[in-house]
Amino acid sequence: RVCRARRGLTHSAYDGLAMARRKSTEYERKRSFDKTPQPRGRAKGKRGGKGTRFVIQEHHATRLHWDLRLERDGALASWAVPNGLPGEPKANRLAVHTEDHPLEYLDFHGEIPKGSYGAGTMRIWDRGTYEELKWQPRKFEVALHGERVEGRYAMFPIDKGEAPKNWMIHRMDPPADATREPMPDKIVPMMAPRADLPRDERNWCFHVTR
Ligand code: MN
Repeated sequence: RVCRARRGLTHSAYDGLAMARRKSTEYERKRSFDKTPQPRGRAKGKRGGKGTRFVIQEHHATRLHWDLRLERDGALASWAVPNGLPGEPKANRLAVHTEDHPLEYLDFHGEIPKGSYGAGTMRIWDRGTYEELKWQPRKFEVALHGERVEGRYAMFPIDKGEAPKNWMIHRMDPPADATREPMPDKIVPMMAPRADLPRDERNWCFHVTR
């Protein structure tokens, strides 16, 4: 019985025991918590818990991507979106399903050290709440209410099978900014050519490269 097992043990030893007893999650197996500041995720939320929070983290890992995480069943259902959420409905974007993250990850930002899984800087790009409009195994729709993102998004897998990895994310609403034009695919950076300094320096803003 739990009560008897608890007697004579310190709280942390008891927690450790409880941790060891439950099967470790994919999230835990991928990480060494003595090396990374990422949350261990002790507090497992209630299954079926009606959480409605979301976070989008900008993750400067080997390849820059954005992690979309939706609170769901006491954990954070997660996708890595290489190009970020689409701002308009024309272009669907790839979203790669990743392991569930613990709820504590809603607030995580910082430096994941070299050699650790997902090494690099992680910043919170947006957060807020979401409404579930449709949640089926192969299609769901949510309305995101963040500080930056506002709108309805649909997600559907492009892989077959029970646990599809590759999904697409589609913006169902028109662009938040009606005048918005998509970024051109290729932007040629402006090069700094050699030139004389302006004669009237006060009316110019310039920087000097060597
Ligand atoms: Mn990531």
